[in-house]
Order: sequence, then C-alpha cells, then structure tokens
Amino acid sequence: MFRIRYVATAKNIRGRGIGAALYEFVRDESLGMSAEGLFFECLPDDPENCSDTDKRKQNQARMRFYERYGARPIVGTGYETPLPGGTDSELPHLMYDGLDQTKALSPEYARPVVQAVLERKYSEICTPDYIRKVVRSFGTSMKLRDFRYIKSVPILPPAERHLSPIAMTVNDRHDIHHIRERGYVESPVRIKAILSQLEPSGLVETMAVKEYPLKHIKAVHDPEFVEYLRRACANAPENTSVYPYVFPIRNATRPPKELSVRAGYYCIDTFTPINRNAWPAARRAVDCTLAAADQILEGRPIAYALVRPPGHHAERRSFGGFCYFNNAAVAAHYLSQFGKVAMLDIDYHHGNGQQDIFYSRSDVLTVSIHGDPDFAYPYFTGFADERGEGEGEGFNLNIPLPVLQDGEQYRRALKRAIAVIKDFRPTFLVVPLGLDPAKGDPTGTWTLNPADFEENARLIAGLELPALVVQEGGYRTRTLGTNARHFFKGLTSGAVGFRVVH
Ligand SMILES: [Zn+2]
Repeated sequence: MFRIRYVATAKNIRGRGIGAALYEFVRDESLGMSAEGLFFECLPDDPENCSDTDKRKQNQARMRFYERYGARPIVGTGYETPLPGGTDSELPHLMYDGLDQTKALSPEYARPVVQAVLERKYSEICTPDYIRKVVRSFGTSMKLRDFRYIKSVPILPPAERHLSPIAMTVNDRHDIHHIRERGYVESPVRIKAILSQLEPSGLVETMAVKEYPLKHIKAVHDPEFVEYLRRACANAPENTSVYPYVFPIRNATRPPKELSVRAGYYCIDTFTPINRNAWPAARRAVDCTLAAADQILEGRPIAYALVRPPGHHAERRSFGGFCYFNNAAVAAHYLSQFGKVAMLDIDYHHGNGQQDIFYSRSDVLTVSIHGDPDFAYPYFTGFADERGEGEGEGFNLNIPLPVLQDGEQYRRALKRAIAVIKDFRPTFLVVPLGLDPAKGDPTGTWTLNPADFEENARLIAGLELPALVVQEGGYRTRTLGTNARHFFKGLTSGAVGFRVVH
C-alpha cells in the first residue's frame, strides 16, 4: 500500500479540495488492486427522503461531488427499505463508482457486496431475513441513477489523476492463441509471468482497451495481405494449425488459390501457423497497442502494451516469427500523424517488420539492436548496410551484435542508438521490447540480467520522450517477469519520470 506523505491540489483538477484528493487517492488505490468499482453510502438528496433543507443542501453538494467521478446512487433496488419498526427517512443511498472503467455494474457482482455491507455495517440492526430480501432486490431493474448535477463526466488528462507511472494495456484475448505444438515457445504463460511481477509493483495501471477500425492496420500492411489473414484464419479447420509449406518465391503475380497453400506466399518461415484464433488474438493485440498509444496522446509519459502475439517480424505484406500484425508499427504510424517517431527495437532479433514498413519514410526513424543475422533469426535482414531508401535513406539504423554479449558490451550499442535518436529529435519514442537478450533465453545467446535491463531502461529514459513500449519476444518464463519489472523500474526512475499532482 502507498503511504500519503502530503496532499496538494490545484484549481484546475476535478474536485479541487482535500476531500477530492483523498477520494482520488482511494480510487487510485482501488484501481491498483484491480477493483471493478467502489461502493459506499451517501445520504439522500431529495425532499422525500430528506426534509431538512440545510441537510439536503449538504447532501446535494456531496452528490454533485461524486457525480464528477461518475459515481451515482444505485436505484431500482430495495436498499432504502426501512427496517422493521425503524424510521423511514434519511436512509442512505448505496453509491457506485465504476472508476472510469467501461464495465457496467451487474446484479451478480453487486449482490455479494451488498450482503457484505449489510452484514458488516448493520449486523446489529438488520435481521438475516431483511438482508436476504435486500440482497435479492438487486436484479434486472437495478441501475445507476441518471446524472442530476452535471451533464457528463469530464475527462481530465490522465497524468493528473493517476498515481501509477505507467499506463498498461493487456491483451485479454491473448490466450485463445495457444499453439500447443512442441517447441512453440511463444505461449500464454509469458503474459502471466510478466503480470505476476508488474501488477504488485505499483508501477503499472491497467487501462481499458477498445476496438479500433481495421484501417489502422491497413495503413501499414498490404490490404490484400490483411484480407488474406482474415479469410485464411476464419476458414482454418477447428483446433488445427496450418503451417506454411509451399513458398512461391517466383511468380508473385499468381498467389496459390488454396488458402492454406497460400500461407507460404505471405509467410517468411515455417513455424508461424494460420489458425482460427490467430486473427482475433492478433487484432486484439493491435487494439491494445493503439489504446496504449492513445494514453501517450492523452499525456501519459509511459504506456506499455503487454501483448501477444508479438509483431516486430511482420512486414508490410508478410507474417512470421510468431508475428501476424506489426503492433508497434501500426502504433508508430498512428502517432506519426502528431509528430516524428523514433522506434528503438531492443528485442534480441532484428525488427525486420518496421524496417520494411518504414524503409522509405523519413518521419519514422527505425533503429534495431540485435543478434547479427549471420547467425540469428531472421537471417536475411538486419545487416548494418540496410540504411533506408529514397526519402528514407539514413533513417534506418541496424546495429548487429556478436554471439556473445554481456550488459556492458550491449550498452555501448545502446548508447550509439540513443545518440542517433537524439539527433533525429522525435516527438515520440516507440520501443518494441524483447526480453530475449536475457541470460538463458532459449532463442538468444546473450547474458543480460535484471540489473542490465534496469540500466538499459534508465539510459532510454534519458531521452526524455513520451515512450510507448510494446511487448515483443522473451521466452525464458522463469525470469521474464523480473526482467520486465526491472526494465520498467529503470524507465520510470530516469528523467522521463512521472508527474503526480496529488
Ligand atoms: Zn525476439
């Protein structure tokens, strides 16, 4: 738990006073504990239930205060039922604050809460029978009262109302994508491993994800390729993965007719399959990444899209390396409408996807530090002499590194990359984050430890840029979470920091 050291407020924030600061603290704490919402009581604000004008005015002021947060009385229930033999005035309303999350309050969720409130707060005056009746009254007619004092909930820059420094989105549909074949290291447990370390750390705050139109994906991927993936996944046999097995590298104008055969027309390897769940999981990963990008646009200094399937091997018109859509590239393009973007790929493997996508653009700088393609996947890109073309010439930087590399050696390359990014003067930084440079990773050969990840992130934070971090590889599940936690600790402890208003 946090300890409050001081409370300060400013006149431009929602609620203004000390009461607001405290209430917002409670809200942030609740969000930090992954609560769906807050329940509490507030005295009635209408003449029928509160005849004393002065008291009513006070109650109305309280209700107005809570409405600013979207909190309102739950109506359509028997919560205000007078106790047998009790007076029937001034019974408190039960209030609900959904904490700016999109989930609606359901009777199933409310009932046990109501039961707990009545049993713990009023056990001396409420009979079990009374409690049972009131709990049962939370049914289909239950709803939140309409706003009475304000028109809608004002949205404030999130940096002003959150205590956690990092806005995180998590692909809630990632685990439908589970390839069970032997050796498929890109598995659902990766997300769990990272969450288990980040959630209790106080570093992250999980944000809601919405659906974005397909046009964002088609802005960086060939629309025909996108449509192919959609159809091929939808038509894939149930519970079976189709692996590309024919690679028509000649006759590009004649893609094979059969959808499963055509996989090799669009895929760069033999281990990234087509299956029913790949499309919805991959699309949701893009939605998460765009939602995180929106957090950056709303003023959050750091946002993190914890997603799988990963994306940085997906090129304009090809998938591969466990990747289908290039999540980070979709977001980078999205952000590029608002200013120049630098992408710093720190996965062990070359970020061939965004290199291909932005190769002839000068408004998105692509930088990648990775195992030399002479020995590391994807083997055919990532060489130092690939520098961009046309207008994009000089805006792609590859730093291939040798087989053996410890943290100190790695940081020499990282410092070089950071200097190039600084010269580029971008508005945004997008970091495809691979945790596979870690010691013991089954897909890598380097030996970075948690302290190295922290130090690397501290150097990146020195750029003082709003940073969107997108999860890519990293497959040693035993250390994934620890390395992620250290990385984000480093990212927040540097100059990027975070602004806490109260
Ligand atoms: Zn990787």
